[in-house]
Amino acid sequence: MSGANHANEGVICPPATLAVIGGGQLGRMFIQAAQRMGYRTGVLTNDVNAPAAQIAHWSIVGEPNDLEALRSLTDRAEAVTVEFENIQAGALRLIARQVPTRPGGHSLWVCQNRIREKNFLDRHAIPIAPWRPVRNEHELSSVISALGLPIVLKTAASGYDGKGQVRVERAGDLGSAWESLGRVACVAEAWVEFTAEASVVAVRGRDGKAATYPLAWNQHTRHILDSTLMPAACGPVLAREASATALAAAEALGHVGILTVEYFLKSDGRLLVNEMAPRPHNSGHLTIEAGVASQFDQQVRALCGLPLAPCRLIRPAAMVNLLGDLWRNGEPRWEAALAADPAVSIHLYGKDAAVAGRKMGHLTVLDSTPEEALARAQAARRRLVE
Ligand code: AMP
Repeated sequence: MSGANHANEGVICPPATLAVIGGGQLGRMFIQAAQRMGYRTGVLTNDVNAPAAQIAHWSIVGEPNDLEALRSLTDRAEAVTVEFENIQAGALRLIARQVPTRPGGHSLWVCQNRIREKNFLDRHAIPIAPWRPVRNEHELSSVISALGLPIVLKTAASGYDGKGQVRVERAGDLGSAWESLGRVACVAEAWVEFTAEASVVAVRGRDGKAATYPLAWNQHTRHILDSTLMPAACGPVLAREASATALAAAEALGHVGILTVEYFLKSDGRLLVNEMAPRPHNSGHLTIEAGVASQFDQQVRALCGLPLAPCRLIRPAAMVNLLGDLWRNGEPRWEAALAADPAVSIHLYGKDAAVAGRKMGHLTVLDSTPEEALARAQAARRRLVE
């Protein structure tokens, strides 16, 4: 959608102005990468003190789907990207008519709705867990005969970090589960007994050239990413399959920018796609220190039509998230975490309200194996609150 009007555009070089829609940590790290390369940066956010707004050259305060705010953004920016997928297709079409906008509307439209996303994956024969759409009583009534139990019911739109999801174990609980989600359009998914969760961060340029970072292992706690290891210690066949699937999805979407694919690994060695994100991902944050170039550097390059950097790691790495829970008894003891292991990298996103479950920052450690890196990252995190 968006690329079409700008198919013959030139490379966008520094000091052009790049803008991001959304002011969270992903926008902030995009801006950090863009500024390092000499671009000027802007952000559209509904919070003047949002993580990205704190460091951008300028901010526009407004809602991401507000047409007036978007018009002000395109007046000031030479290219636009997003840090989240929930932007209305119409709004994105509007900005794409003014300036190059990546990823394009089609990628966002597919990835912002689980029904569309699963239909897309099925159509391209990409393996996923058995599923059914739930948009009315009739569809709800056939879910258990189709999928068995347990299942997980997820809202089709706007879910993240396990929000908008309910696990259903007994047939009698299905109605109240849908009720608790507001009876909005949902997908019902068969529960997957996975042995591990993994992800692949792919980047695809304007010219269709694409590459992936190595497979990452991810550990979730309470449905929120807790830690990531890269590269995942798995055989080359699995790594190749995960990479090929992500590249096939990016190509089929006509995606330009970062596309992250999350997987379940089953005990029989099969990989199922859980979901896709048309943007940088929490599991790719460690590429800031561990990569020849980070996922945010690649986002800038793809947006601007620059050659992509190799998706190679300099060293194995691990990342642990810092959730608001760590602030329960006051400010964490940063000096204690670093005193024992000064090579730990601390990232804080500048959020002032440390709510439980809120992503406040992360730690990254490089080591000769990802497991050693993880042990050190976890130890540093423990020391923050000892
Ligand atoms: P999601 O927001 O869909 O990525 O779900 C968040 C987390 O919930 C996943 O990373 C899994 O740990 C868990 N989860 C989601 N769907 C399923 C499923 N069908 N089977 C088992 N676990 C799931």
